[in-house]
Amino acid sequence: MVNPYGELDRRILGEVYGSTETVDNLVVLCDEHNSRWPGSGDDRKACEFMVGRLEEYGLEDPHMEALTLPGWMRGSSKLTVTSPIRREIPCIALPHSVEGDVEADLVFLGDGPVDAYEERRSEIEGNVVMATSRTPLGMARPLHRSEKYNRSVLAGAEGFIFMNHYPAYGPPTGDISTIIPAIGVSHEDGSFLARLLRRKGRVRVRIETRCRNLDVETWNVVADLPGSGGGDERVVYGAHYDGHDIAQGALDDGTGAVCVMEIARVLTKAAGNLKRRMRFILFAAEEIGLYGSRAYVEQHPDEVKHVRFMLNFDGAGRAGRQGFQLNGWPALEPLFGDVADAIGVDIPIWQRISPYSDHWPFLLQGIPTGRMGDPEEARRRGGRGFGHTMYDTVDKADLRVHRECVANASIAAVRIANADDWPVSRRSREEVEELVKAMGYYDTLELGMRLKAYLTAKKAQLRPETKAYLKRMRGSWEEVV
Ligand SMILES: [Zn+2]
Repeated sequence: MVNPYGELDRRILGEVYGSTETVDNLVVLCDEHNSRWPGSGDDRKACEFMVGRLEEYGLEDPHMEALTLPGWMRGSSKLTVTSPIRREIPCIALPHSVEGDVEADLVFLGDGPVDAYEERRSEIEGNVVMATSRTPLGMARPLHRSEKYNRSVLAGAEGFIFMNHYPAYGPPTGDISTIIPAIGVSHEDGSFLARLLRRKGRVRVRIETRCRNLDVETWNVVADLPGSGGGDERVVYGAHYDGHDIAQGALDDGTGAVCVMEIARVLTKAAGNLKRRMRFILFAAEEIGLYGSRAYVEQHPDEVKHVRFMLNFDGAGRAGRQGFQLNGWPALEPLFGDVADAIGVDIPIWQRISPYSDHWPFLLQGIPTGRMGDPEEARRRGGRGFGHTMYDTVDKADLRVHRECVANASIAAVRIANADDWPVSRRSREEVEELVKAMGYYDTLELGMRLKAYLTAKKAQLRPETKAYLKRMRGSWEEVV
């Protein structure tokens, strides 16, 4: 079949492969603006840098949009074994942990399967739970860190230790709710604690977390490429630019952010050939609760109604083939198949839905969404990789993968923005609810409701930051993440 965009595709690909903008921009984001942590000051400087670049590229109206969120600032935290031996263990506090001191017995739950918390409630009550970052065998959905933490809280735990199940990556980080002190430890140190507990029968630990929960202001960056056909309908490409504060957040998700900026630059060379408007968004504060994308959807209720498709670049451009994950939209496969044909290489196109990134607030609005990446990336690499560890640094970035991501997504943008018969329409609210239930997240939702009821009952004894957290809890099915 003749490719109607042959000439345009070649122009786009030439632009992509003749440029090193992604790496150049990533080095600035990482080496000058660190993790772009919300409220750190580096987030603002990074946004100003991105706006400046997008202006140079000739995008329409690049600007920052402010939002306020419950932020978190790290102090120094400590984990000490106090009995039967005395030893200090390296650890990091998990974002949104409360500040506090707790000394209690260690309870190791292995991978922390769903039933373990109620079954071992009498051991857990008043003590410190340790669970690994692995999803227990046999579970159909991923078992997220927050769920292990929340279930520990409901069983009466006073402290929580999140142990990396991957060796050699150091302690893992990741956001949790603001209730009890929570820390991450490396696979090696967690294994030591587990062995000690097995040999001695009883181990006491002391957790001291030093950190601050406070409201902070941060920004999304938004820029447009107007469509030639006028009209309100638009395509959104977005990625979060913030990383975790313990690293540079180069692969998660500085890389996705610079790929979106590069797609924006490349597509200005195709301006006039895209019928519908492209909107590029660099989201703030994804890592501590999807605040940037949630705020965006809330701040733009009218525009969101006109989004034809939203493609999320979280983890895109970091490794493997750069294909398209569609969030339950089989009717879109032929269109992405055309992209593979145009490029002439095999790229994965698959259906899957996970709530843990910035496409989620759009998906909840019924908007057709997808994510770029490789379904086999995790298996090939043996896990999450450097993401959420202190080793997520810019030296790991790979220009060849950036180019493949930018090329495939730019070629796709031409098809998505120009298709006159868009084969899908948005889901109704009922359909979205059904979908979330069918994904197996009903448990998680129920857990959120239980946690809310539990905290409400204990309201008088709660720390001020936990009271503030309780006030923010939505207690609805949107609480899945
Ligand atoms: Zn991410």
